[in-house]
Amino acid sequence: MANTDIHNDLQSKNGRSGSETPRFYQRKDVYCDDITEDIAGHVYEMLTTLGEDPDREGLVKTPERVAKAYQFLLHGYVTDPRAILESAVFEEDYSEMIVVKDIEVYSLCEHHMLPFFGKAHVAYIPNGKIVGLSKIPRVVDVFARRLQVQERLTLQVRDAIQEVINPLGVAVVIEAQHLCMMMRGAEKQNSVTTTSAMGGEFMKQATRDEFMRLISST
Ligand SMILES: [Zn+2]
Repeated sequence: MANTDIHNDLQSKNGRSGSETPRFYQRKDVYCDDITEDIAGHVYEMLTTLGEDPDREGLVKTPERVAKAYQFLLHGYVTDPRAILESAVFEEDYSEMIVVKDIEVYSLCEHHMLPFFGKAHVAYIPNGKIVGLSKIPRVVDVFARRLQVQERLTLQVRDAIQEVINPLGVAVVIEAQHLCMMMRGAEKQNSVTTTSAMGGEFMKQATRDEFMRLISST
């Protein structure tokens, strides 16, 4: 399978066609042959151990596909989120709250390597510097494409923005559903986990309330 097929597969799973793919899902699909071969070997063994026949027609290419899929899903390790932000910092006097809401999040829980997915809402109050709006979803995505827990993901997004543009405050809320809860274990099908990380001005109740009101309105 060509690398682009893997990419398209992932896009169609996300319910998007190629033309309307948001910027933060675009990346160069470069798979390391050694890593692909190594992971594929392990997946082959795993299928056998689980009682499957990895040589049957439908599974012949599965180990390789899984190996490439995981390289894609975990590509956040090789990207520096701070560099993304630094590439688009602008001096600006604007000092009102800037909110980017409903950012799609797809990540893998580090306990089960199963997906958790949902939405992130990010706000900051500039202190002389703003950042290109498209960079915020990109930063969320880079941290999400690692093995994560939702709590840490939330804090990492806040801290990266705080460090690079030093605003008066940053707020991050993530609402996500975890397949490790929905498909196994507690089997709580519809539970949504909400995490938040606030700093600076967002420690003030009024500012926090305004943010929460902005992200809850549709
Ligand atoms: Zn889990």
